[in-house]
Amino acid sequence: MGICLTVTTTSKGKLRDFAAAANAHSIELKPLASLDTITAPVEDGDTFEANARLKALYYSQFAPGELVLADDSGLEVDALGGAPGVRSARFAADAGVTDSPDANDNTDVWNNIVLLQKLAGVEIEKRTARYRCVLALARDGRVLCTAFGAIEGIILEAPRGHGGFGYDPLFFLPALNTTMAELDIEAKLSLSHRGRALNSLLQQLAAAPAH
Ligand code: IMP
Repeated sequence: MGICLTVTTTSKGKLRDFAAAANAHSIELKPLASLDTITAPVEDGDTFEANARLKALYYSQFAPGELVLADDSGLEVDALGGAPGVRSARFAADAGVTDSPDANDNTDVWNNIVLLQKLAGVEIEKRTARYRCVLALARDGRVLCTAFGAIEGIILEAPRGHGGFGYDPLFFLPALNTTMAELDIEAKLSLSHRGRALNSLLQQLAAAPAH
């Protein structure tokens, strides 16, 4: 029987990455039933790992017997002392910048603007950053394994590209002369923090099957 993982994220960007991963690895990824009706847990961990674990544990109670996968991820910028880190999704909100209630969701746009403002005047050599992703797999209130992935990059002074999500238009990969938002989804997954974490998780599952 193939591996089937229950995905707990509502992030469209993460879901697109996971769908590409399911294709590439021939695994089945299905959404947690009624996820939109479940109150999300408070992500108050200090680390990506703590938040990934708490999400996997929390959501596993809604899917008895299933292998429940949670992703916590974000951007660490060296010139900002590692910020936004676990606050990546809420970076602009933390700075007091939010959409008006009737607007479409522009969270990614605001987050990028706040990032550019905070890095204004910082020279390119000092704009080093990395994406990190921690995946946690839980079943029936127990974490079975965790997996880590990271990728190094540079924060540009202006966005490039329309793919990806989040900070991808600003996240530049010098070796490829491209931003994450200029890569197609398969190429992004082959080198991204999420793709690397997922490879590691699948290797662990192959070595010690939990399914
Ligand atoms: P989380 O949902 O609390 O894990 O927050 C993840 C946040 O980190 C997202 O909202 C993005 O701002 C950022 N992030 C994580 N992974 C990526 C990625 O692959 N591309 C761009 N931004 C990402």
